[in-house]
Amino acid sequence: MNSEHFDTIVVGVGGMGSAAVHHLAQRGQRVLGLEQYDIPHEMGSSHGITRVIRLTYFEHPAYVPLLARAFALWRELEQAGGEQLLYITGSLDAGAPDSFVVEGSLSSCADHNLAHEVLTSAELTSRFPGFQLPPEMLAVWQPDGGFLLSERCIVHHVLQAQALGAEVRAREHVIDWEAAPGGVTVRSNRASYSAERLVFTAGAWSQSLVASLGNNAAPERQVMGWFQPAQPQLFALERFPVFNCLVPEGHYYGFPIHGIPGFKIGKYHHLEEQTTADDVDRGCHPQDEAALRAFTQQYLTGGMGPTQALKPCMFTNTPDGHFIIDRHPEHANVVIAAGFSGHGFKFCSVVGEVVAELALAGKTRHDIEMFRLDRFAGH
Ligand SMILES: Cc1cc2nc3c(=O)[nH]c(=O)nc-3n(C[C@H](O)[C@H](O)[C@H](O)COP(=O)(O)OP(=O)(O)OC[C@H]3O[C@@H](n4cnc5c(N)ncnc54)[C@H](O)[C@@H]3O)c2cc1C
Repeated sequence: MNSEHFDTIVVGVGGMGSAAVHHLAQRGQRVLGLEQYDIPHEMGSSHGITRVIRLTYFEHPAYVPLLARAFALWRELEQAGGEQLLYITGSLDAGAPDSFVVEGSLSSCADHNLAHEVLTSAELTSRFPGFQLPPEMLAVWQPDGGFLLSERCIVHHVLQAQALGAEVRAREHVIDWEAAPGGVTVRSNRASYSAERLVFTAGAWSQSLVASLGNNAAPERQVMGWFQPAQPQLFALERFPVFNCLVPEGHYYGFPIHGIPGFKIGKYHHLEEQTTADDVDRGCHPQDEAALRAFTQQYLTGGMGPTQALKPCMFTNTPDGHFIIDRHPEHANVVIAAGFSGHGFKFCSVVGEVVAELALAGKTRHDIEMFRLDRFAGH
């Protein structure tokens, strides 16, 4: 059977894959992007209207230079597409003074000289009256944070890629692949393809496609909730920033009202349910809602009224919570970007650039040493 030939094939056109397709097409590649669902869809990790983007990075200060580039690339994408994708609200990282959220956020500010203010709980409430945190807590305020419209980002990456000649095919499920020094072959439920190189951006499905990942990109069920605030004016876009907050009930993040008529909240590692991407429980249950309301009732002014929406989603966790962006250990012409561990979306734009550079030149201008796959060797 004759198979169609491309320069590069990208498997998975979600957050990362849409950016990869775009950046490869910008470099003159004849690109094929294959997506098993729709563009965009609600079955993976990138849906639910909004994703936090922030410059402070309690996870590790080494992410800050990548974030600076990510912000610039998001602005470029917005300009090219003529639609606002990035909303600036400022960001807050709150918790006990010695918590990893507050200490980590401050260390990223110190290392990279980021403009910020440290607010006491009383100062926080006077500036943002939606918050009512315990008196001993602190919040790091940084003015450049905000949120991205995640599904619209995917649409615009794909639109820009298509304008440059990229081919994106949805409802096409990749079944298997092979690589040799001279090229790769990819077989889907519809056709067989050949290419010079291959990129995997398959999110929560990555482990089932790339055996070398082992169990180092493990899917975990999450649920996001939207609730009608008792005092909606306190949670409006102009009055309420995106936040991370560590309290005894868990580590939460949230957003002002946008897109769905409710305040949006999520809890990291939600009910700690390990799963597989195909078997994940896609229902939402009273215990999901209870885990989210544990924060809103205790720490937000006026609490929350009726539920407006609940959506399941998946994290894909690495053992250390840092990404995997690397060439395949056995195939230099195969690149893997996976394991974004619940904090990857804000980086999609720059990951697209990194992946395109790695695929074409075997190296990138960005420092991605921390994301090597072989850090898990022997685990
Ligand atoms: C509830 C929740 C809240 C989050 N909040 C934030 C946040 O505020 N800020 C932030 O920066 N990050 C956040 N994240 C993390 C971020 O959303 C993810 O890191 C990011 O979306 C991962 O993108 P991805 O491209 O790896 O996955 P996806 O966008 O899921 O893309 C993977 C794609 O590959 C496709 N695919 C898989 N296998 C195949 C196959 N065999 N054939 C064809 N196609 C295939 C899938 O269908 C999918 O479209 C959050 C995640 C969740 C779940």
